[in-house]
Amino acid sequence: MDDKKISSSGAIGDMEAKYKTPTFINRIIDTLTDPIFVKDKDHKFIFLNDAFCKFIGHKKDELIGKSDYDFFPKEQADIFWKKDDDVFRSNEANVNEESLTDSKGVVKLISTTKSIFTDDSSGNKILVGIIRDITERKTVEEALKKNKDLETFNKLAVDRELKMIELKKKIAELKNQLEKKSDEKSLILKNEELEKAKLAALNMMEDLAESNVHLKELDQAKTDFLNIASHELKTPLTAISAYLDVLDDYKEQFSKEQLQGLEAIKRNSNQLRTLIGNILELSRIESGRFELSKQDVDVEKKIVSIIDTLKVLIGEKNIELKADIGKLPVISTDELRFEEILNNLIGNAIKFTDHGIISVVATQEKDLICIKVTDTGIGIPEDKIKNLFQNFYQVDSSLGRRYGGTGLGLALTKKMIELQGGTIIAESLPGKGSTFKFTLPINLIKKDS
Ligand code: ATP
Ligand code: MG
Repeated sequence: MDDKKISSSGAIGDMEAKYKTPTFINRIIDTLTDPIFVKDKDHKFIFLNDAFCKFIGHKKDELIGKSDYDFFPKEQADIFWKKDDDVFRSNEANVNEESLTDSKGVVKLISTTKSIFTDDSSGNKILVGIIRDITERKTVEEALKKNKDLETFNKLAVDRELKMIELKKKIAELKNQLEKKSDEKSLILKNEELEKAKLAALNMMEDLAESNVHLKELDQAKTDFLNIASHELKTPLTAISAYLDVLDDYKEQFSKEQLQGLEAIKRNSNQLRTLIGNILELSRIESGRFELSKQDVDVEKKIVSIIDTLKVLIGEKNIELKADIGKLPVISTDELRFEEILNNLIGNAIKFTDHGIISVVATQEKDLICIKVTDTGIGIPEDKIKNLFQNFYQVDSSLGRRYGGTGLGLALTKKMIELQGGTIIAESLPGKGSTFKFTLPINLIKKDS
């Protein structure tokens, strides 16, 4: 029994002797993907792994023998130094969330675990740190927090709406009472009623002013949230698109089912790209960071080419898509936005029409160009027309709805038109069809070029 023990511990000893060489241990530490650093009692770097050098963007030989003050902004180095001191003094490990600016100026959020041991030969304390990059986690946490703010925002918006209704009701009641009492000629009574109503109205106004301030703050939070969320979605989508392009090169080797799958992924990622683009554009507009550019646009040519590209959306449906364009001068407008507006309106017309005719009519009316998109589709109930241009509004928003989309197209279209000084209106008869008519002012038009 004892022999066995001796021989087995001998085997471990052999193994240790074989692998416990400095080169072997260094290789292990350099293979670790988390940045690791070791400092002496004077806070000087005495050992670093490759991941650390890569993370902060400096070479190993630039770092050895130096301290945090040689590489990081003073405010950051002060914090790192203090946390080192805490560990040196207490002999206890600590974990801190801090920010670190790398050699390129990129600020990263990190969680650093610092622990301590005493070097046998010198008796000096040595600090070992491991860094974890938590930038992405923090961004997501922040976005989730803002999502909560968004809920509060919606509640407040509803609350404000209710208060407005109440205020309107009170004013109507007051008018009623005054009318009734006018024949009683009781001026005193009328004045009392008036005073009461005035007070109630003032109270409500105060409440409204307060909730308006809060709404503004939350509106900003909502814009920030939309920005973060859409950027977070954009990056993975770019990767998906790149891989889809690669897969396209192997198409001939695919079975029918695999090809269908590939097409479905493409279709869905295109939809996602449009949605993200719309959200980003909306938040740009809402935060005032939206800029219009101007190019010479031949309206007739442009409409014909847009119609041509959108024809694929008709698919198997029996729809005639035609354009009737009067003589129009070349206009100077934001070409991409002009395309987006028409893509949205004609895209909707095709989506919500099963058969019949979709026509695009463009004319010049005095100092306006006027474009009408008419369809013979499902139409829109009269009481819903006023909501069409709100963010995320859809007439049918049930889970089982037939038509895709997110209800951002028209909201964005209206904003893009109004920012250029134009207007848009919708008319519709349920079951018969709809017309969307928009104008752009003539001052965008260069008199013949
Ligand atoms: P998205 O444009 O974001 O992909 P969407 O098409 O549902 O989604 P909008 O373009 O904003 O959103 O339109 C809002 C809603 O207005 C639609 O969901 C639909 O209910 C109604 N609508 C818009 N255009 C038409 C149309 N031509 N005929 C019938 N209903 C329409
Ligand atoms: Mg749409």
